Amino acid sequence: MSSIPNIIIAVDGFSSTGKSTFAKLIAAEFSFLYLDSGAMYRGVTLAGLEAGCIKDGKIDEDGLRGIIGPLELHFQRVDGNTKLYLGQRCIESEIRGWEVSQYVSPVSAIPFVREWVDERLHRFSEGGRVIMDGRDIGTTVFPNAELKIFMTADENVRAQRRYDELVAKGEDTTLEAVLQNLRDRDYRDSHRETSPLRQAEDAYVLDNTHMTLHEEVVWMLGLLQGKFGLLESPGLSC
Ligand code: C5P
Repeated sequence: MSSIPNIIIAVDGFSSTGKSTFAKLIAAEFSFLYLDSGAMYRGVTLAGLEAGCIKDGKIDEDGLRGIIGPLELHFQRVDGNTKLYLGQRCIESEIRGWEVSQYVSPVSAIPFVREWVDERLHRFSEGGRVIMDGRDIGTTVFPNAELKIFMTADENVRAQRRYDELVAKGEDTTLEAVLQNLRDRDYRDSHRETSPLRQAEDAYVLDNTHMTLHEEVVWMLGLLQGKFGLLESPGLSC
């Protein structure tokens, strides 16, 4: 019998492939700290919007550079979930809104923003035993991560899932607009100069187009067992 060592698990992939849902479940199942790198980019974007550095389709990079230094973005565990805070304020819900989603890709393409986020992700991961999701975790942030997953799914299935989520939150949007936003983000994320989204050579691909969450976790358990031997508590709670 063996258990999973204190490794870093990198989960990358396209927009709305369910990376964070998957990573959160794995974190809970195998006692890992979950860190959502996209939330950090969303937090910077929200702060930029609130400070007026992002408006009318334009990003004032100098303005953003001026506010980013002292930004107190950090994660806190609340009722077993990891949530993003700006100072004392929980911004988990605001960062998932439509306006932030419109601007987050261009903001995340700015090199000084990426440096700032990467530095914090390293600091937050210092204790090890972390599962982190994003676009460049296995390629740039933690190129030596012991286990790398690359997630993908049919884009129409992804758009429908995201649309259902937004509607459930009361957002007024259309399936077409959501699909367009998803395509735009994937295109920008894959074509930017700094740290573009791409599959690491040593990543395992998880295509969840036709998979339930339970099947995804079973897939992961198989992967972990292959790498680390029989696990101490292979019983799944999900
Ligand atoms: O994962 P999520 O969709 O919340 O990420 C929001 C955006 O943040 C992505 O579309 C991408 O532009 C950016 N991002 C990134 N690198 C990461 C994580 C997210 O560029 N590691």
